[in-house]
Parts: sequence; C-alpha cells; structure tokens
Amino acid sequence: GQPLLAGINLRKSFGPTPALDGAGLHVRAGEVVAVMGPSGSGKSTLLHCLAGILKPDSGRVLYQGSDLTELSDGQRSELRRTEFGFVFQFGQLVPELTCLENVALPLRLGGVRRREAERRATEWLDRLEVTGVAGKRPGETSGGQGQRVAVARALVTGPKVVFADEPTGALDSLNGERVMDLLVSSAKQTNAAIVLVTHEARVAAYSDREVVVRDGKSREVELAR
Ligand code: ADP
Ligand code: ADP
Repeated sequence: GQPLLAGINLRKSFGPTPALDGAGLHVRAGEVVAVMGPSGSGKSTLLHCLAGILKPDSGRVLYQGSDLTELSDGQRSELRRTEFGFVFQFGQLVPELTCLENVALPLRLGGVRRREAERRATEWLDRLEVTGVAGKRPGETSGGQGQRVAVARALVTGPKVVFADEPTGALDSLNGERVMDLLVSSAKQTNAAIVLVTHEARVAAYSDREVVVRDGKSREVELAR
C-alpha cells in the first residue's frame, strides 16, 4: 500500500551540527515502524518533525496528500489533535486529574460531552486492563498502570498514527512487554500506524519494519521476520 505518512529528506539544526541531515521515514496504515539508533542520533527530532510538533528547516512531511510543513500552526495542531496520538516516556498525564479524566481529556478538548467522553474513556481503560485505576490520580498508580492509562489516552480519539517515544523506557521488562502487547494489538485493531522510537531490541521486535538513525541520517534495516 501507499504510505500514510512520509518524511522526506528532513534537515533540522539546533546548532553547528545538524540533528537531522536528510533523514526520512514512511509508514503505512496498520504498520509499526521502529526507529532505533544511539542516543543523540536524531530519533526524537525525527519523530517530532513527523508529528508536526517541530518544523524541519527543509524537507517534506506528507500526510494524506498534504505537506505538514506548509500548514499553519493552527492547522497543524488541529491535525495532531484529530489524527495523531502520543505516548511518551514520562510525565504526560495531568497529575491533578483522575486516570479516567485524563483519558477523557482529548475527547473533551474535541467537544465531546462529559458523559460520552467518560463512557468511551472507560471502554479504553477496560481494553488496557486498568479499569481499577479509573478514580485514582496518576501519582497513585504503578508505572505500568500509568503507562497503560497513557496508551488509552493516546488511542481514545481513534488516531490514524500513534507516535511513541521510548514508551517503555521507565518500565521493567515484564511491564514493558505488557504495554507493548496492548499498544500494538489495540493499534492493529483500528488499523492505526505506530512510529515507535526505542533503543531496546526487545521493544523494536514488536515492529514490522526498522529504521536506524545515525548522525541525523536514516536507513531501513532488512529484517528476517
Ligand atoms: P535522540 O532522540 O536520538 O536521542 P535527539 O533527536 O533528541 O536524539 O537529538 C539529536 C541532536 O539534536 C542532539 O545533539 C541533541 O542534543 C540536539 N537537540 C535535540 N533537540 C534540541 C533542542 N530543542 N535544542 C537544542 N538541541 C537539541
Ligand atoms: P524528548 O523526548 O526529546 O526529551 P519530550 O518528548 O518530553 O522531549 O517533548 C518534546 C516535545 O514534544 C515538546 O515540544 C513538547 O511540547 C512535545 N510534547 C510532549 N508531550 C506531548 C504530548 N503529550 N502531546 C503533544 N506534544 C507533546
């Protein structure tokens, strides 16, 4: 199939050494792409450019026929809210809200009424097997539970692309595998694509394809699976 999202020849500098030096990456609907490479190689910068969080100095980011780099900030944030989901390593849940309110929040921001938002949030907590923490604040859950809540929040709006930056980085291997199992199986059910930044081979093993970033350049890895 055609790529759903494609970054082409991306360049971005924060200083004298470019963070991205012609990197690219594409992903199809329902596909999981792992982005690997050493610390400081440009993985997060690449993810942020693909997600429309960061504007590259040059290059294109094509999503369903439009170039994200040519949209206004308002159009880009609207696209992020409606089409994309995000899972980061830490600190993404709002500490003052309950887990249920956290999962309902993206729906509320999209204008869904409280009762309906909380119904859909409850369904997602159930799918991620963390119904029990619905009424707790993020600080009262374990790391593994909190990360499952974060996955529920990323998926509740039905995103077409989920961006995950070291989603298991703060978890032990058992919890990490559980979170990856649930993230990938939930995304596959809805035919969402996942762009997964990780430095762990065990996490990358959940992907369909692997791209390695080094010194701001990317290359596709031939996989035997
Ligand atoms: P990775 O995710 O592979 O660890 P990053 O994309 O975070 O790498 O960083 C790539 C390079 O760009 C690094 O040298 C990093 O220090 C630099 N960098 C990333 N973001 C910023 C920023 N906001 N300001 C300055 N330098 C940055
Ligand atoms: P890094 O992984 O490079 O340390 P973060 O992932 O913490 O950086 O955040 C980098 C960028 O992503 C920032 O511009 C921040 O505003 C944005 N960001 C962080 N969390 C979210 C989120 N939940 N939704 C959308 N954007 C986010």
